[in-house]
Amino acid sequence: MVIDIPTYVREIMDRIESAGYEAFAVGGSLRDIMLGKEPHDWDVTTSALPEAVASLFPDKHVIPTGIKHGTVTVISEGFPIEITTYRVDGEYTDSRRPDKVEFTRNIEDDLSRRDFTVNALAYNEKRGLLDLFGGKSDLEKRIIRAVGEPEKRFTEDALRIMRAFRFSAQLDFEIEEKTLSAAKKLAPRLKNIARERIGSEFMRLLVSAYPCRSLRDMENVIFEILPVGEIDENRFSLVNNFDFGAEERLALLLYGKAREELLDVSHTLRLSNEQKRVLTLLALPFETELDLTPLSARLFLRHYGDKAESAARMLEMLGVISSEFERLVFLEAESSPCLSLDALALNGGDIISLGLASGKDVGALLARLLDEVVRDPSLNEKERLVCLARRLLN
Ligand code: ATP
Ligand code: MG
Repeated sequence: MVIDIPTYVREIMDRIESAGYEAFAVGGSLRDIMLGKEPHDWDVTTSALPEAVASLFPDKHVIPTGIKHGTVTVISEGFPIEITTYRVDGEYTDSRRPDKVEFTRNIEDDLSRRDFTVNALAYNEKRGLLDLFGGKSDLEKRIIRAVGEPEKRFTEDALRIMRAFRFSAQLDFEIEEKTLSAAKKLAPRLKNIARERIGSEFMRLLVSAYPCRSLRDMENVIFEILPVGEIDENRFSLVNNFDFGAEERLALLLYGKAREELLDVSHTLRLSNEQKRVLTLLALPFETELDLTPLSARLFLRHYGDKAESAARMLEMLGVISSEFERLVFLEAESSPCLSLDALALNGGDIISLGLASGKDVGALLARLLDEVVRDPSLNEKERLVCLARRLLN
């Protein structure tokens, strides 16, 4: 079997081999190229120790990414290549990370510590494909299967539970039966894993091409991740259809939950402020009465701001608004000249120089003017807005 490794990666492997060491392409990059996908970066595994690897590339930019764990990154033709020394992971006492990392002379040992069969393949020109655990056949059958005994592997490192669901969602692979039941059984061990790592895996799962089956497969696992009492399973297939970002999909999943619960979810998943903003904007129940008028559509646009398009699609899917109203929102978004502060005919500078307001009152006044303009777009002229501002202030 010949695998087409790009020249900029082969050059790196060749140089390591010329110095008398072994080097293989390995991990996600190899998996992806065997699936006919473009890998986002390349991983190389080698018998050389990190210091030796670094010394082989004096002409290149070398980053000591994780010397202790055996990883250096070499920039080759502008692309980062992660080169990691063969290693075996020592004992795990807390399902969190190995107590120590040991380097080994054997590629076979290194492959045995990897998480899933499809991630435990290695390739170089000399030895061809090393496939100790049936990874190639699992790639063909589209299966995520733990390397070795699944319960043992998830006990060692519970993050692998999340990785299984995430890979299944990204690749549209089924999780093999024993691997899946071990994942569910050992899910409580996710408590030992750093929240931001779980959050990051879960958001990657949500934003992937096939989240629906993974969400179904997760069953109890989802409640180890999201501090919510229940989730409507009918939402899972909606998430699959919804071609928006991870936080929008999360909002769809959690639509109708109370603000406190959403803030709790944001905190547990360690979401960024922007992700939290989107989640609480979109997932809070929408209670305003809307009729099929341009005015209602403009009020909707003003309420949801930059997320109005997602909100309209999402609320239509949930049956909260009609498809006629959704269409009206899109129409009004295109035809309404003034729905945001930057399109207002009066700006903060004008307000200050006219002495209408100062400090934080400026923003509040602008927001009230915008509310009026959304109701009556003909007001959006500088002089009319100045009059209006004076009236509002009295
Ligand atoms: P992607 O980069 O798309 O997330 P990947 O498979 O490359 O997928 P990485 O996290 O980049 O995943 O890890 C590279 C390789 O290291 C994996 O393919 C796997 O062989 C191994 N690996 C990563 N994390 C673990 C883990 N928690 N347990 C065991 N092996 C792991
Ligand atoms: Mg990777």
